[in-house]
Amino acid sequence: MKVMFVNLKSELTVCKDLLTRLGNKTIRTRTECNCPHTQNRRDAVVAYKTDTILCFVIRCKACKKFWEETANDR
Ligand SMILES: [Zn+2]
Repeated sequence: MKVMFVNLKSELTVCKDLLTRLGNKTIRTRTECNCPHTQNRRDAVVAYKTDTILCFVIRCKACKKFWEETANDR
């Protein structure tokens, strides 16, 4: 399962549309991000097929920044 991060709510919408067009089911939800010590639930999109979750797209600026900075380590 992949976890991706975006900055803007509009980017979540773009991701949702794209994932739907690729033949997945998508739902909007709220979930935790990777930030420590936060009680906030972030806006997110989940894509799934039958009973398998394919990816989470989570809106968090701090996680997005960290995610980009560590891209080479993955
Ligand atoms: Zn975060």
